[in-house]
Amino acid sequence: MADNECLFCKIVVGDVPADIVYEDDEVLAFRDINPQAPIHVLVIPKQHLDSLASVADENRNLMGHIMLTAKEIARDEGLSHSGYRTVINVGADGGQTVNHLHLHLLGGRALRWPPG
Ligand code: 5GP
Ligand code: ZN
Repeated sequence: MADNECLFCKIVVGDVPADIVYEDDEVLAFRDINPQAPIHVLVIPKQHLDSLASVADENRNLMGHIMLTAKEIARDEGLSHSGYRTVINVGADGGQTVNHLHLHLLGGRALRWPPG
């Protein structure tokens, strides 16, 4: 269910523009507005879920779909051989700033570990 106040729900319905790289019935993927790597794509469910902490058993297939979508975008962006990172920030300590579940796909440079 769309949340009228949610930025990413507004991107889903087209009220806020985004550079969309993939879309199907369940998920949307678009480039991050403030990229932290040469490739930085966000993969989100079209339905509003606050965070990974809100995901339930009924969302099992959706979560798999999000992961596989990230893998396919990474391949399409030419990252399969160089490698890449997927990240889901959850809540305040996780650094989540947009309260609509999203998976970050980052690549195109060597990423450091551990994260800050
Ligand atoms: P978080 O910090 O919640 O894990 O990630 C939120 C991400 O959304 C950030 O990387 C931020 O740059 C990105 N972001 C915030 N507002 C917008 C926007 O309006 N459009 C796009 N494409 N990305 C956004
Ligand atoms: Zn939302």
